[in-house]
Amino acid sequence: MSEAMMTAVDVPQLDHDDTPVPAAKKPPVDPAVLAYRDLKGGEWWRHVPAYRDVDEATFLDHKWQSKHSVTSLKRLLATMQDIVSEDFYADVERGFMLAPMSVRVSPYVLSLIDWDNPWDDPLRRQFIPVASTLMADHPELNLDSLHEQADAPTPGLTHRYLDKALFLPLDTCPVYCRFCTRSYAIGLDTEQVEKVALRPNKDRWKAAFAYVASRPEIEDIVISGGDAYNLRADWIREIGHTLLSIPHVQRLRWATKGPAIMPQKILTDDEWLDAITEVVERGRSMGKEVVIHTHFNTANEVTEHSLRAMNRLMERGILVRNQAVLQRGVNDTPETMVRLVKTLSWINAHPYYVYMHDLVRGVEDLRTSLATGLRLEKIVRGVTAGFNTPTFVVDAPGGGGKRAIHSYEHYDRETGVSVYTAPSVKPGRLFYYVDPLHALPESGQQRWANPDERPRILEEAAEKARAHIAWLEDGD
Ligand SMILES: *Cc1c(COP(=O)(O)O)cnc(C)c1O
Ligand code: SF4
Repeated sequence: MSEAMMTAVDVPQLDHDDTPVPAAKKPPVDPAVLAYRDLKGGEWWRHVPAYRDVDEATFLDHKWQSKHSVTSLKRLLATMQDIVSEDFYADVERGFMLAPMSVRVSPYVLSLIDWDNPWDDPLRRQFIPVASTLMADHPELNLDSLHEQADAPTPGLTHRYLDKALFLPLDTCPVYCRFCTRSYAIGLDTEQVEKVALRPNKDRWKAAFAYVASRPEIEDIVISGGDAYNLRADWIREIGHTLLSIPHVQRLRWATKGPAIMPQKILTDDEWLDAITEVVERGRSMGKEVVIHTHFNTANEVTEHSLRAMNRLMERGILVRNQAVLQRGVNDTPETMVRLVKTLSWINAHPYYVYMHDLVRGVEDLRTSLATGLRLEKIVRGVTAGFNTPTFVVDAPGGGGKRAIHSYEHYDRETGVSVYTAPSVKPGRLFYYVDPLHALPESGQQRWANPDERPRILEEAAEKARAHIAWLEDGD
C-alpha cells in the first residue's frame, strides 16, 4: 500500500492537544545520536566525473548500474578521472595483480566512496584492492576454509547441518567483494586463483533438488552463490517453485548482496522483483517462509535509495535479514558497528549475524582479532530491540558451522588461537580460529614465524580446550 492510500483512510492520529507531557527521567538525547536517520539523498553521484550528467532516472536504472560497473583499472580511470591521485592508481594497479578475487564495483558503490581519502574508505577497503595495505597471510589460511566442497554431496549443494542445506546455483555476483569466502569459486579466474566452476546449469541444479527431496530432514535452504541478484526471473521461478514443491522444505532464503550495493534493481527491475514476490507469496499460501538475506557491512552503504528499496520489499511483505562481516577499518569500532545496527534497524533490514572474518587468502588487512568481536558484541547488545541485535558468530574453519563467538572453549591472546566445538554438527572434534598476526603481541608473532612451533601452538590450545570441556561437563 502506498503512503497516499494509507492517509486516505480515516485513522486515529496523535492529538496535539493540551495534554501535559510527563516529566522525563532521562536528559534530552543529543541529536547527534539520531544522525543515522539522515540518509544520504539528492544526486550525490554527480561528484564522480563520469556521472556528472547522470540524472536520477538513469542512476536508478539497474541496467545502467550493471553496464557501468567497473571491472578494470582502465574503467576506474575513465570513471574517476582526475579526482584520484596517480599514487592511488599505481597502488590499485599492483593490487589488481595480487588479488585472489576479480574486481567488479557498481556505480552506486563508487559514488559512495570518499575519494578525498580512498585508502581509508570502508567501501574502498571492501571492493578495490590496493597493494600497499596487503599483509602476509597467516600460515593457517587456505581457500575454502569452510570446507564447503568437502560437505557437498553434489557440486554446489553443501549439507552440513542436520536440517539445512546451502545451494549455490551460480557463481557470479553483481559486485565482487575482496574478501569473499567463496573465492575458490566466485568470479572470473584471477592471476592468483583458478576457480571451481559453479555455472548455472540445469542438470547440476536437478541433482541438487533430487538430493534435497531424498533427505526428509532438510527443511531450510539457503539459495546463495554467487548472488540471487544475478538469477534471471525464470530461474528464480524454477528454483523457488521446485524447492517449495518438496513437502519437507519449509523455509527458503534468497541470499543477495544486492540491496547493499545496488538497491536500484529493487526499484526498477520489476521482472526480477515480481518473480521473487511470486515465490514469497506462493510460499506464504503454503505456510512456508521465503525471505531475503542480505549483506550490508557499513552504514555508509545506506542511502535514500536503500530506504526506498527496503520499503518496496516491505510493501510486498518480504522480510529482509542482514549478515555482516566484521572488518578492520570498516565496522570494527563501537561507533561504526552501533551505527550499522541502528541504521539497518531503521530501514527494516534486521541485523541477524555479524561474522568473524573467514580465513580467506589475501585479505589479512581486513581481519580483526576475536577479542575485537567479543568487545563489540557486549556494546551492541542492549542498544536496540533483541530481534535487531545480531548474533556474533565465527564460522568454524574446517566445517564446524557457525558458533557464537563467546562460546569458545579456549582463547589465547598471545597466539591468537581460539578453539570451538560443534556438538550438533561434528561431535567430538575441535575447531580452531586464528587471529591475524598483526593483532598479536610480538611474542605471539615470533612463535608463528617458526614452522616448528606451529603444531605445538595448536596442540597446547587443544589441551587447554579439552580441560575446559571436562570442567564444564563436571557440573552435570
Ligand atoms: C550458514 C550456513 C547455513 C545457514 O545457517 P543459519 O545459521 O541458519 O543462518 C546453512 N548451511 C551452510 C553450509 C551454511 O554455511
Ligand atoms: S556478493 Fe557474496 S558471494 Fe559475491 S563476492 Fe561478495 S561475498 Fe562473495
